[in-house]
Amino acid sequence: TTTKPDISREKSAALYEKAKTYFPGGVNSPVRAFKSVYGTPLFIEKGDGSAIWDADGNQFIDFCGSWGPLILGHNHPKVREKVMEVMQNGTSFGAPTALENELAELIVKNNKFIQKLRFVSSGTEAVMSAIRLARGYTKRDKILKFEGCYHGHTDALLVKAGSGLVTFGETSSAGVPKSFADETIVVALNDKAAVEEAFAEFKDQIAAVIIEPIPANNGLLLQEKEYLQFLRDICTKNGTLLFFDEVISGFRVGFEGAAGYYQVKPDIITYGKIIGGGLPVGCYGSSAEIMGNVSPDGPVYQGGTLSGNPVAMAAGIAQLTELLRSGFYKDLNKKTEEFTDAIQRFATARNYTFKVFTIGSIFWFAFTNKESIRRADEVDAASMDKFKKLHRELLNRGVYFGPSGYEVGFISSAHTKIDLEKAKRAIFESLEVVFNG
Ligand code: PMP
Repeated sequence: TTTKPDISREKSAALYEKAKTYFPGGVNSPVRAFKSVYGTPLFIEKGDGSAIWDADGNQFIDFCGSWGPLILGHNHPKVREKVMEVMQNGTSFGAPTALENELAELIVKNNKFIQKLRFVSSGTEAVMSAIRLARGYTKRDKILKFEGCYHGHTDALLVKAGSGLVTFGETSSAGVPKSFADETIVVALNDKAAVEEAFAEFKDQIAAVIIEPIPANNGLLLQEKEYLQFLRDICTKNGTLLFFDEVISGFRVGFEGAAGYYQVKPDIITYGKIIGGGLPVGCYGSSAEIMGNVSPDGPVYQGGTLSGNPVAMAAGIAQLTELLRSGFYKDLNKKTEEFTDAIQRFATARNYTFKVFTIGSIFWFAFTNKESIRRADEVDAASMDKFKKLHRELLNRGVYFGPSGYEVGFISSAHTKIDLEKAKRAIFESLEVVFNG
């Protein structure tokens, strides 16, 4: 197999030139700028089911799924119809609507891990608000996070570890005051001693331990249940809240997210992405007692002009209703397993340095021979060069992945057997080019 000629990106390139005059890097979210892959970003014109089309008319089987929300695929008729029905009555009132009750009921009645919640407009906003709640409730200031977990772009969490076992955070963005980062303790994933040391050093000071229970923003760093249970126990012992950021894993690995998957109960959970059906929504939830601290019931302030927006609620209601159909996750997960197994078999048979890590309908291609990767510092940065080549070959064969080797792929219920067969063939050929080309 040899490399394929590049698809036309003429119209995308022209749009990108224009966009660069309006937006930093020509985009409204940095990864979209294709900085770690080949060529100009593709401007997408439409999506339907598993497919997307760009401005030049190229068609792709999409495994990005808007970075996770589109578990039913693009332009799902049930979501579209509900959104259009609700929009007939206006787009926003800044007053309560029955739709908020409806979406909350779908979540709370089918998920034993939260009793009350608050809707916001993004994952970042959900995490930011929930951190404030954790601090207000515990009357403590420090937050412990893990290297390689992403929790949105709120100041206190744009922090990475320094070199020691337990370190104060160093900001990973300009514009974050050092004093904010000092409230964040960063440790490596899958390292119990580091967490124990942090609790010893900052006794009675840690408000919350925040983790993506399925870390999916630095590759897919699957943790063991036993480790999550360890975090549960050490938090309980220290009066610290265990905070699962399930913006990706929520409603993805099952209706009860990672908490249900591992049967480990967090104190606070955030959701985003899937609960908004592709519209801007996030939420944070907890026990009724802890949520009782949020304004106007309690002293922790949080609000939003477009919070609980009716159009966004409509999309979430339609999407979650589909997810509750019997067998939904079983089918989706089985489809993913068959797909990823076949790719792994292909790579293993050829002795490629390549592993597919997967859980539920999430998967990640890693250029490694390691059987497991659980920490951010185990990801080989040099291997990202291979991803860059793979990404180009895949685009040229009609398969769209998020433009970074650190990002995971998602399978939706709209991916048909035929789509996945086609995608597999494209992936096989592309891997041959990457390893032999
Ligand atoms: N938490 C996690 C685990 C995420 O993956 C993300 C976004 N990918 C966020 C928070 C932030 O969500 P948003 O981009 O909607 O602000």
